[in-house]
Amino acid sequence: MIRFRKDGTSSKRAAALACLLWAGATWAQGYPAKPITLVVPFAAGGPTDVVARILAGSMTRTLGQTVVVENKVGAGGTIAAAYTARATPDGYTFLIHHNGMATAPALYRKLSYRPLADFEYVSQVIDVPMTLVGRKDMPARDFRELMAYVKANGDKTNLAHAGLGAVSHLCGALLRQAMGASMTTVPYQGTGPAMNALLAGQVDLLCDQTTSTTPYIKAGSVKLYGVTTSTRLKTLPDTPTLAEQGLNGFHLVVWHGIYAPKGTPREAIDKFGAALRAALKDPAVAQRLAELGAVIPSDDKLTPAGLQSWLQEETKRYEPVIKAAGQFAD
Ligand code: ASP
Repeated sequence: MIRFRKDGTSSKRAAALACLLWAGATWAQGYPAKPITLVVPFAAGGPTDVVARILAGSMTRTLGQTVVVENKVGAGGTIAAAYTARATPDGYTFLIHHNGMATAPALYRKLSYRPLADFEYVSQVIDVPMTLVGRKDMPARDFRELMAYVKANGDKTNLAHAGLGAVSHLCGALLRQAMGASMTTVPYQGTGPAMNALLAGQVDLLCDQTTSTTPYIKAGSVKLYGVTTSTRLKTLPDTPTLAEQGLNGFHLVVWHGIYAPKGTPREAIDKFGAALRAALKDPAVAQRLAELGAVIPSDDKLTPAGLQSWLQEETKRYEPVIKAAGQFAD
């Protein structure tokens, strides 16, 4: 019920006014006035989480407020994206996501958010190649032997991934198609836990970003079968590409973007974006990302327009491919 006061203002309107005044006061103190949440759609320890935490450290110093990484896992990243789309657009919630933002509309028939309409775009972040790795005691010594092994063992071969809509799933699907072989796929809530399963010998194969696999490759705790880019990587110069080893034209790079709920104030988008760009230019951050095989995109991509147009392009590119495959997640 709405009660009217003597001055004619309803108590509901007064409450709304108080809210506005409070919000105004917070903004008057200068943005950001409290910690900022950076939502990660996958489990801790995976590549998206690793990158978010590297960036959050540097961005916290620039912004003077903590950037808190929050893992909201499940459904190939769509739970985190839906959460961000519905969050209060006050400049205190952002999302880091990858190619999954472009594949979800075709993969999920009942998606509760629209990647091209329900967000503000902050910036692209980094591009990361993937590697195909196997458990240490896989009998196949190289990719050619692996192809023969998978063909002989078929569904007995397990490939771990981070759910439908995750790039590890996409990579696995492309691989199975290119190899003309079937495998059993095992979903996890991120490739962090998928990697733990691989290290424990519970699954056979995993396709994952170098930002996660590089330390395990260097330590020799996994078997490396190839990189997913069309040319070899500077960080793994002796490792052949999958294309070189018989999968003609195979090329998959993971791109990342930062999003905010639609209606987030421009000042917040600009400040968060500026802190991101400063982090990517921070020599310690840039060196760490380079060691992990990540590539920082050109300056024109590190902008709201750079992310928005790329997302539009990628959504258009994936839609017919996914529809033709007739594979839906729901
Ligand atoms: N690399 C994962 C993916 O396959 C996600 C993650 O755990 O960061 O999408």
